[in-house]
Amino acid sequence: MKLTVVGYWHGYPEKGEATSGFLLEEDEVKLLLDCGSGVLSNVQSYCAVTDLDGIVLSHYHHDHQADIGPYQYARIVNKGMGVEMKEATIYGHQDDQAGFSKLSYQNVVKSQAYQEHSPLKIGPFTFIFKKTTHPVPCYAMRIESRGKTIVYTADSSFFPELATFSKGADLLIAECSGYEGEQIAQYGHMTSEAVGQLAKQAQPTKLILSHLPHKGDHEQLRQEVAKHFFGEVTLARSGLQIRL
Ligand SMILES: [Zn+2]
Ligand SMILES: [Zn+2]
Repeated sequence: MKLTVVGYWHGYPEKGEATSGFLLEEDEVKLLLDCGSGVLSNVQSYCAVTDLDGIVLSHYHHDHQADIGPYQYARIVNKGMGVEMKEATIYGHQDDQAGFSKLSYQNVVKSQAYQEHSPLKIGPFTFIFKKTTHPVPCYAMRIESRGKTIVYTADSSFFPELATFSKGADLLIAECSGYEGEQIAQYGHMTSEAVGQLAKQAQPTKLILSHLPHKGDHEQLRQEVAKHFFGEVTLARSGLQIRL
């Protein structure tokens, strides 16, 4: 598997950047994990929009799905120009019917629902979903392909089952929305300290910190996580690529 960080900002994208979005590739299959603000523009540094097989959404907060509408328009514009395209599907949960109902678009984008604990096969990937602790329904993803595993926490405060769900991943992408001591669990987010506890229990081979705050020095987040977890900790940045 190859994973590229397309966007990693919390809430809104900084200049020229994007909120949550990760390009996942294996063989010829290309999927986006979340599609936040700025993702559709920035993903084109790595592949054509028309080459995407689809998008897997964790939840319907703007910073994870703001570019769904532009993606639908990109499909219809390219179809109108006669560009050859793969079929595309957007995968989402149905806990929020209003959110799910906006995913399919005319005859250029299909939608498909996923369910917690029910494996979903997309090309070479097998996805398993786990509901997180967040103000709106949100699902973490455990993705396996050819014996390698990526876990993406999406948005969540820490809870013990999240560590069980993330156990032994080759790569854990954890949201890290605040610094040690900040009271953000009540908003359904993790501080560096919470991520440190998560990683200490889950013991991933590699850890990427994402969903980063618009303040402070992110290097401090990395150091705070490293007090609890002694493995490899990397700050997300646009264009960061991991091959597993
Ligand atoms: Zn959220
Ligand atoms: Zn978010």
